[in-house]
Amino acid sequence: MRERLVIVGSGMASGRMLEHLCAAAPDAFDVTLFGAEPHGNYNRIMLSPVLAGEEKFGDIVTHDADWYTKRKIACRFGETVTKIDRERKVVLSRNSETPYDKLVIATGSVPFVLPIAGKDLPGVVAFRDHNDVQAMLAAAEKPDANAVVIGGGLLGLEAAAALKKRGMNVVVLHLMGHLMELQLDPMAGGYLQQELEQRGIKVHFRAQTKAILGNERAEAVLLDDGTLYPADLVVMAAGIRPEVRIARDAALYVERGIVVDDGMRTSDSDILALGECAEHRDRCYGFVEPLYEMASVASQTLLGKEARFQPAKTATNLKVTGVHVFSAGDFTGAENCEPILLSDPSGGVYKKFILRDDKLVGTVLFGDTADGAWYLDLIRSGASVAAIRDDLAFGRALAMREAA
Ligand SMILES: Cc1cc2nc3c(=O)[nH]c(=O)nc-3n(C[C@H](O)[C@H](O)[C@H](O)COP(=O)(O)OP(=O)(O)OC[C@H]3O[C@@H](n4cnc5c(N)ncnc54)[C@H](O)[C@@H]3O)c2cc1C
Repeated sequence: MRERLVIVGSGMASGRMLEHLCAAAPDAFDVTLFGAEPHGNYNRIMLSPVLAGEEKFGDIVTHDADWYTKRKIACRFGETVTKIDRERKVVLSRNSETPYDKLVIATGSVPFVLPIAGKDLPGVVAFRDHNDVQAMLAAAEKPDANAVVIGGGLLGLEAAAALKKRGMNVVVLHLMGHLMELQLDPMAGGYLQQELEQRGIKVHFRAQTKAILGNERAEAVLLDDGTLYPADLVVMAAGIRPEVRIARDAALYVERGIVVDDGMRTSDSDILALGECAEHRDRCYGFVEPLYEMASVASQTLLGKEARFQPAKTATNLKVTGVHVFSAGDFTGAENCEPILLSDPSGGVYKKFILRDDKLVGTVLFGDTADGAWYLDLIRSGASVAAIRDDLAFGRALAMREAA
């Protein structure tokens, strides 16, 4: 009899793991896939273009009903797993008990909701799934409607630009002094701010949100300094937390995320975790590239092969049409680092490179990101850039020609 594999969460990480597993050993397991959302795996990162009207939801679905049927995967979409009973080796949902031999937890993250008055009013949404996008689109249908986006990070800005494109008046409230401070230095953050303001998006820095006001639904956002912004829609984009509830309740070892070893095994060797809910060597990840690596490792572990998760350095791109932002590695330039800067305010181009011991360790690009992948390769390889350092900022073509 085949082993029973139960997967909790039909998101990007588990979708990729299933692809690996089905390609390598299509008959190894009887698979049951639970997903709280009403549909199967889709490309979550493309929700921003869907919100902006540049893509349709159907186009970002990565696994349709046919895909699962062909692979004999039992889909339980729209069904939230509420409990793992490790002694009996079953997972429970509201209406069912499902036995497993191996269990994979891939529950992703939950948006962090500011604990303020009014947070539960209708009209207050997060930006995590297709449901949230539908709620935002409904709010944008009202003519001249106001949106307040709490959070000037990647998600908040993608939401803000998309809602602006949909015709809303948009204010971004950001706690810090410049935008996307986790990925950009103040200078690049300033370029980005200017670009968004030119599109009509207002940005309020050092904003301490005090309350969301409204009777039946959200009507305004009040800041600590007394500023009041009208709001038909409030988007909470203030961060995410690994979704670890069922793992913690089942007494698996959980810190910030569900702690896994190099093979994605949790503290129970029959249970694996991967994706944003997993914590590996004190780190949780919020971008897909390392999660895809986890997916490959998890599929091999399930098949009894030796595999180790070794995350590579990743890059960040902002998905706002016409705005080119790229960030990778250590862009802050701590001790023993040497920055190289290129700044062209009228051309809207800014580039910063951080070198340590003649190696590129980080970069921030605004305006011209065409060579981002090449810079990322240089960062990952750790190769010396001494021979091309004078031309580094001018891109691959020139730097390599000069070096030849
Ligand atoms: C709008 C947006 C834009 C993004 N842009 C980028 C980008 O440009 N680049 C990038 O690298 N990353 C981006 N990300 C992040 C990326 O989408 C995530 O890192 C990735 O989706 C995480 O994959 P995951 O499988 O861990 O979690 P998810 O894809 O979130 O999947 C988890 C699934 O598990 C379900 N679930 C949770 N608990 C249960 C339960 N108890 N029972 C059943 N189902 C459950 C959830 O409903 C969800 O469907 C973006 C995210 C968003 C929201």
